[in-house]
Amino acid sequence: CGIIGIYAPGIDNISQLAYFGLHSLQHRGQESAGIAANKNGEIHYYKEMGLVQEVFSDQIIERLQGDIAIGHVRYSTTGESYVANAQPLVVHHKGGAIALAHNGNLVNANEIREALEDQGVIFQTSIDSEVIANMIARHHKLGIENAIKETMDQIRGSYALAITYKDKLIGVRDPHGLRPLCIGKIDGGYVLSSESCAFNVIGAEFVRDVEPGEIVIIENYKIKSIRYAENMKRALCSFEFVYFARPDSVLDGQSVYVSRRNAGKMLAKEHPVEADLVIAVPDSGTVAAIGYAQESKIPFGEGLIKNRYVGRTFIQPDQRMRERSVRLKLNVLKDNIKGKRLIMVDDSIVRGTTSKQIVDLLKSAGAKEVHVRVCSPPVKYSCYFGIDTPTRKNLVGAVHSVEEIRKMIGADSLGYLSIEGLIKSTSMEGCSLCTACFSGDYPMEVPKQGNKYLFE
Ligand code: 5GP
Ligand code: SF4
Ligand code: MG
Repeated sequence: CGIIGIYAPGIDNISQLAYFGLHSLQHRGQESAGIAANKNGEIHYYKEMGLVQEVFSDQIIERLQGDIAIGHVRYSTTGESYVANAQPLVVHHKGGAIALAHNGNLVNANEIREALEDQGVIFQTSIDSEVIANMIARHHKLGIENAIKETMDQIRGSYALAITYKDKLIGVRDPHGLRPLCIGKIDGGYVLSSESCAFNVIGAEFVRDVEPGEIVIIENYKIKSIRYAENMKRALCSFEFVYFARPDSVLDGQSVYVSRRNAGKMLAKEHPVEADLVIAVPDSGTVAAIGYAQESKIPFGEGLIKNRYVGRTFIQPDQRMRERSVRLKLNVLKDNIKGKRLIMVDDSIVRGTTSKQIVDLLKSAGAKEVHVRVCSPPVKYSCYFGIDTPTRKNLVGAVHSVEEIRKMIGADSLGYLSIEGLIKSTSMEGCSLCTACFSGDYPMEVPKQGNKYLFE
């Protein structure tokens, strides 16, 4: 998911800004979109299934007046994909209305939910974000800051949150910093965003990242910071660099573009092969393919053309939709690839659906050889922290060897980037990235039993 929060009492149509911000976070979730605007503690919101552009009209934006706004684009990991589960979540408790937008996934939400339900609490959605909102409400007597702190002490998992309550905009990042969140400054206010790429479009300037285990409270045009967890192992999601984030974002000080290009170079060193042309699987493989071409001195060219109007294929809730959309999305440039030995660079192989179909497409268009190079290690373990990797039995890298996968996708050779290569490409030390879906080394305890993610 993607979240945005804007605090700008001086600015006229704040929801317009939130709208533009959400637009640039669209790649983080395409199922639903929503904005909540806060005027003197009164919160109006609108959320619906669909893309940001589909959900909002000028009239709707016009109605969402306020001094503070938060927004959300959703990609479901827990909770089905329907509108009740869209965000921001707006709840009314004794202290007033609270709106909350969450990116991430809690690993103990079910336990907490059950305990609350035993006490008679009713939930209206199946998302774990409602558990967070509920717990904040229960602690309201402590004051919002302490209520949030108390809640954060009890939840475990990944979260970047934007919350608005009364005259405050509040940002929270989980103690490991699994999901990104950064702060920007605009005329007369501040912005919180999952990614810095949202700043340019709304005229904001990057200030800094929210630190892991930090709560930032923005009110009276000032930022106050509270640390509620310190000295935890930093573990920003490495998949943000591989696939999820936009290349023009900077996460915890590291440019996504630069790390993808480095990863491509590293891949060329680790898995060289003689060929005529390096092509990318657009868009997520493009930057890495350029890096591969630079390092290998094999020319980069276009072999596949992407239909701009088809969304991200992975972020489609079911397999049939995913399969259909690969062909809708990509078409081969026959003239460029006919008779050639190709190196086809993609960012990741998860289920193997994409690569197999593309190799097929390339071969039937006359490619002589197709050497698949993947700019991340084999995905072998499920993610519990907000990236929708499937159950392990559906992860092709968990159940098959590289050679088996090569055969399955019909490639002439197959090479994956190593975990060390991936870490190096981000210029961050191993300890500051989560690589659990590749290594199985989770930054915290994850559910063992009765979980959909385990082998059945
Ligand atoms: P597969 O077809 O192997 O299941 O999916 C791999 C493709 O899905 C890659 O081209 C990658 O760009 C794309 N992809 C999109 N979203 C995600 C995501 O959230 N996680 C992963 N692992 N891959 C994704
Ligand atoms: Fe990211 Fe993988 Fe860690 Fe999930 S397990 S947070 S996808 S690195
Ligand atoms: Mg892709």
